[in-house]
This record gives sequence, structure tokens and C-alpha cells, in this order.
Amino acid sequence: MKVLVLGAGVVGVATAYYLWKDGHEVTVVDRQSGPGRETSYGNAGGLCPSFAGPWAAPGMVSKVLKLSLQRNSPIRFSPLPEPRKVAWVLQWMRNCNADRFRVNKLRMQRVAHYSLRCLREIAANEALPSFDFHEGGVLQLFRTPAELELGRLSAKALEEYGVPWRILAPDEIDSVEPAMRRSSVEMSGALHLPADASGDSYKFAQGLAAFLQQRGVAFRYGVRIESLARAGDAVGAVRTSQGDLHADAYVVALGSHAPFLLRPLGLRLPVYPLKGYSITVPVSDPAAAPRMAVMDEHNKIMISRLGDRIRAAGMAELTGYGLALDPARRELLTNVVRELFPQGLAWDQVEFWAGLRPMTPDGPPILGRTRWRNLFLNSGHGSNGWTQSCGTSKVVADIVAGRAPDIDLDGLTAERFHA
Ligand SMILES: Cc1cc2nc3c(=O)[nH]c(=O)nc-3n(C[C@H](O)[C@H](O)[C@H](O)COP(=O)(O)OP(=O)(O)OC[C@H]3O[C@@H](n4cnc5c(N)ncnc54)[C@H](O)[C@@H]3O)c2cc1C
Repeated sequence: MKVLVLGAGVVGVATAYYLWKDGHEVTVVDRQSGPGRETSYGNAGGLCPSFAGPWAAPGMVSKVLKLSLQRNSPIRFSPLPEPRKVAWVLQWMRNCNADRFRVNKLRMQRVAHYSLRCLREIAANEALPSFDFHEGGVLQLFRTPAELELGRLSAKALEEYGVPWRILAPDEIDSVEPAMRRSSVEMSGALHLPADASGDSYKFAQGLAAFLQQRGVAFRYGVRIESLARAGDAVGAVRTSQGDLHADAYVVALGSHAPFLLRPLGLRLPVYPLKGYSITVPVSDPAAAPRMAVMDEHNKIMISRLGDRIRAAGMAELTGYGLALDPARRELLTNVVRELFPQGLAWDQVEFWAGLRPMTPDGPPILGRTRWRNLFLNSGHGSNGWTQSCGTSKVVADIVAGRAPDIDLDGLTAERFHA
């Protein structure tokens, strides 16, 4: 079958991989000049099923309101009452209770653990160039006793999902992450999650795209997708800046931009961008830089070691589709990294970046069939899209092939939004 994958972020490229494995004739289309150049470019690098859970949680509404009033708050939203944003926020608020949280968390955990297994399989089976894959686990740092207590509670909840964890006393932290020895920040404790990993999703997307290109998958870059043309109960063509493209099946993997293409077909996907920022800094002294991914719970900033660089990322802004770089965000990221890891980084070569997390209001992604016979979705991966990319792509390829996916699809399709 001829399949067009719309979008060459990490999700689109992973989708192309599984479709190619099934023997389809695959073409991937993207407006950028190469794969992974939008949200998949500068994320925190965490491959963290243990963290996979919705932002819509009990108590979050008041927490977000309080935080957004603080100076230098990691959370910010613009007051502009844009209808799509308002609708998204209302749906998000309806999910901020204990019952919905539990259901959504279970759904996200189901995808995330499966997905990391799929990624490990690709890394083991295919000769890809390095994507700085690191299996050393993740360390969540708590600066206050209250944060530690919350961390302990959420760790206990992880037992339900079979996730291994260990609480570390302050004097045990540097036995797991030796670079913390140089930090002057007082810690109340930490949570070690040894099953999690980290890696560079941009390098992964690039390496996998090159691998696929050598094996006959076509990549068409610099092509703007404008609309989908209907043909009865199916999609007949994709209208692009370079003419119409035709296929037997179409998979939408356009990150935060998916709703624009789908709306004219009557599919209202509640995916909205949540902006975040990152800095990437070269390592000048490997012994002084972190070896593993570290989450500073107090500032909600994750710092990952990506080969000879570190990446620090965080912040959440509900401010639309703009990608302007706010110097205050850079300063906050820099200060947090310098506090935790005062040595070993080349601060004269910092790369500052912003990206848009494609968030659903309840948390899980939106996968699989639509009411259009040959149109499939791999969208709404939110703050865990790198972690979830391979598993969701395998699921979508299974659905395109008419096979039952390895994981239950309950709560992971567009049906839950009546879209
Ligand atoms: C600050 C930050 C930190 C993050 N940290 C983590 C983390 O630690 N772990 C984790 O798992 N996830 C993390 N994420 C989330 C993760 O990066 C995303 O969920 C993931 O990259 C989404 O991938 P995607 O392929 O769906 O979207 P994208 O990478 O945005 O890909 C979509 C593609 O569609 C193309 N496109 C869009 N519209 C059009 C059009 N009209 N025509 C042609 N092409 C088009 C774009 O060019 C783009 O290449 C983070 C995100 C941010 C912002």
C-alpha cells in the first residue's frame, strides 16, 4: 500500500519506520529542510515512562493560578480569550480530579512503558548512528521536605505500574550522580528511577530517517501541507505548496499543528501548544557534568546528559504558537544548571531554544482511525512525545495494517473527544 506520513518529527519518522517494516511504499512530507526540526529538536531528552502522567491533576487549577502570579514562574498564560484555547482549558479543568487523573495516568503509563520497549528494540536491531542513548535512569531532586513527601507518595503510586524506585537520603545522592558532589544546593532527598533513560530525539529522528532513506522510503522536505482533499468517505489527496500528493492511506503526525489540517474535515482535535524552553551546553569537564538525567522538582526543570552536551529544559506557557525566545527564561535555566552543576560546562557556547508541546487536555495521545476511511492519527503526544514516539507509531502501523495493536487502545483514540 502507498502511505503518506504528514510530518517528519520524531513521531512521523518512527511511524515511517514501522510502515516500512510492514512493506508499504512510504513517503514522508515536511515543511522543514530535514527531520525533527520543530518540537523534536530541543526537548529535555528524557525517556521517562515513570514520569508519564497527565498535567491535569487534582489541585492543579489552584497550583497553576498561584504559580502564574509568582515572579519568574515556570508557568505563564496569555489572557487572550482565543476560542480554541478556552475550550482546551475547560476540558483540562474537567480532568483535574482524582478519578480522571488515575484513569489518564494508567493510559499514559500503558503507552510509555510499551514505547520505551519499542525504542530499545529499534536501537538493538538497526544500525543507527548514536543518539546519545543513556540507560542510567533518572534522578528526581527534592529541595524541601514537602517536595520529598510528595515524591515519596507518587513513588508509592508507581508500584501499581511495576516501576522500580528508591528514595535517597541527601548524603546518598552523589553515590548515584557523582557530579552532585559539587553542588551547593541543600537537598531534602531524591528519587532514583533506574528503569528510565535519556537520549537525543533530534539525532534519533535524523539517524532513523537516513536509515529509511537508504532503504527506499521517500522524504520530501520543504513542502508545506495546505489541506486534505476529500473523495467520498476517504481522503483523496494532500494539497501542498508543491502540488497534490496521492496515497492509499494518510497518517497525520504534525505535532501541535494537526488541528489546522483536520478541522476542515470536521475533526476537532483538542491539541493545543504548551510552549517550553531549553538550553544546550557543551561539556568541558566530563567528571563535573551530570552523567544521568536529573529532574529539579522545585523548578520543574530537567537536565539530561546528551553525549558531550547537557540539555536543560522546562517551563509551560499557554501563549499560542509563537516561538519567540524570552531572555528571562534563558536566565532561569542557566541559574538552575549553574546551582546544581557549577563546573564542567562551556558557558560561552550555549544554544537557546523554544518548542511547542502538542498537548491534549487529558494527557494521552490521539491514535488510529478517524471517520475518514484512510486517514489515521498519531498526534497529541504532549510533554512525553519522545518517550511515546516509537510505541504510538507501532500502534498506528498495526492499525493501518488491520492488525490488533500489542496494547489496549481504550482511551487512546479520537473517539474519547467525539472527534
Ligand atoms: C521544552 C520541552 C521539553 C520536552 N521534554 C521532553 C522529554 O524530556 N521527554 C519526552 O518524551 N518529551 C519531551 N517533550 C515533548 C516532545 O518533544 C514532543 O512531544 C515531541 O517532539 C512531538 O513530536 P511530533 O513529531 O509529534 O511533533 P514535531 O516534532 O513538532 O513534528 C511535527 C512536524 O510536522 C511538521 N509540520 C507541521 N505543520 C506542517 C505543515 N503545514 N506542512 C508541513 N509540515 C508541517 C513540522 O515541520 C514538524 O517537523 C518536550 C517538549 C518541550 C517543548
